Amino acid sequence: MCGIVGVSGAADAARLVFMGLYALQHRGQESVGISAVNDDGYARLSRRGGLAAEAFSDEDLDTLPGSLSLGHTRYSTAGGAGLVNSQPIVVSYREGDLGLVHNGNITNAGLLRTELVEEGALFQGTIDSEVIVHLIARSRCPSVEEQITEALSRLTGAFSVIITVGQTLYAARDPWGYRPLCLGRFPDGGWMAASESCALDLVGATFVRDIEPGEMIRIRGHELTSLKSIDSNAPRQHCIFELVYFTRPDSRVWGQSVDRARRAFGRQLAREQPAEADIVFSVPDSSNSAALGYAEESGIPYELGLIRNHYVGRTFIHPTQQGRDFRVRIKYNAVREVLEGQRVVVVDDSLVRGTTSMGLIRLIREAGAAEVHFRISSPPVRYPCFYGIDMPTREELIGARLTVEEIRQRLNVDSLGYLSLEGMVDAVSESGPFCHACFSGEYVAPLLDLEHGLEVPTTC
Ligand code: SF4
Repeated sequence: MCGIVGVSGAADAARLVFMGLYALQHRGQESVGISAVNDDGYARLSRRGGLAAEAFSDEDLDTLPGSLSLGHTRYSTAGGAGLVNSQPIVVSYREGDLGLVHNGNITNAGLLRTELVEEGALFQGTIDSEVIVHLIARSRCPSVEEQITEALSRLTGAFSVIITVGQTLYAARDPWGYRPLCLGRFPDGGWMAASESCALDLVGATFVRDIEPGEMIRIRGHELTSLKSIDSNAPRQHCIFELVYFTRPDSRVWGQSVDRARRAFGRQLAREQPAEADIVFSVPDSSNSAALGYAEESGIPYELGLIRNHYVGRTFIHPTQQGRDFRVRIKYNAVREVLEGQRVVVVDDSLVRGTTSMGLIRLIREAGAAEVHFRISSPPVRYPCFYGIDMPTREELIGARLTVEEIRQRLNVDSLGYLSLEGMVDAVSESGPFCHACFSGEYVAPLLDLEHGLEVPTTC
C-alpha cells in the first residue's frame, strides 16, 4: 500500500507532486502529504487526511515553493491511522532538512525500533518508516550517501523510498525489489520518481526506467547519478499481486504493461478453466483486463454485466443501512438486460475474504443469470502478506479455510476455477522472479520480527 512521488529540478515541484499523488490515489486514501524544499534548503511540510483533490487547494500549494518536493498517499492498517503516522516525515538533520517517503513493510522494524529506543531514540508514531530516519541520523559514515546506504542495508523486507537531504534527492528500492519505483524525465531536464508510471503520464514526464532492486539514485537539480548502493545477493521478489490487482492497468512496472499482464492472466485462465457460457464480464474495474483476456482466448463475447459506482465515499454508509449486501449494492449494480437467461462467466482478480463475492453472485442471480461460472485470475490467497499489502489474517482468508469445492458451494456458483500458480507466473515470466508468498507461503525476505515474537509493525 501507499504511493510515493519525488520531483527534482522542476519549477513548482509541489504542484507536480500533487498531480502525481492524484494519479496514485488508488494506492492509499487515508492521508496525503507533500513536502517542498526552498532554495535555501529549508523544507516545508503539509499533511492532511483524505484524498489529494480534497486535501490540497491551489492556495495550499502556493505555500510549498521550491524545485524539490516529496509526496505520499497512505493506506493505513488498523491502529496506524492518524496524521502522526502520515508522511512525508521531515526532520532537521546535521546535513540539512531531511524528508522521507516510504512504500512497503520493513520486516525487522520492531527489532530495530527496540534497539533504537534502548539507545534513547524518541519516536513520534508507530510506522516502520520512522526507523529509517533514526538509522540515517545515527550513522557515523562520512557522506550522506553512505549514511543512507548503511541505514537501508540494515533493513529486511520491502521498501521503496525517496529521501531529500538539503537540495539533493535520493530514491532507492530494497534488494528484493518488492515494491515498484520508476523514474521519469521532464522535457526541461527535471526528474520525477514515482511508484507507478501513470503518475509520470499525468504531468508530462517521460518514463525512463525502473529503479533497480538494491539501486540508489542521487539527483541534484538536473544531474542524476546511479549508485549501486545496497550490496546484497538477495533474489528478486517483485510482488506479483501488484500485477494481479494493485497497480493501475495504464501503468508499466518491471518492464511490463499491467494491462497486458492482466490480459495474459485472463488468457491463461481461459485455457486452464474453460466454461460453456454465453457471455464473459468482469468485476470492475481491477478485473477488466483479465476478463478481456478470458474473452479473447475463449471466443465468448465480452459484455458489461456489472456497473461500478465510482462516487461511493468511505463515510457514506449509515449504520442503519448496513444490511446484508448493502455495501456491495451501493458499489455495484447488475445489468438485467445483459444477464437475463444467460450462462455467464464472471472474472475477478482475486478472492480474499469472499464476502464481496457472495453479495455479487446474489446480485447476478437476482438479475436473471441462468448459470454463473466464477473465474479467478490468480490462485487461492492462503497466506497473509508481510511485505506491504494490507491483507486479513490467515483465519479470515477463505482460501486458507475452505477447499475450492467448499468455496464454490459457499458462493453458490455453478463452477469455480482459479488460475494455477505456475500459470500465473509463466504468463508474466519476463518481469520476474516474483514473490507469490500470499499464494504459496514461500516468504523469501526474512520475517525477523515475527521470528522474535514481535508484532508486525504498521505497514505503508
Ligand atoms: S505476499 Fe503477496 S501481496 Fe505480499 S509481496 Fe508477496 S505477492 Fe505481494
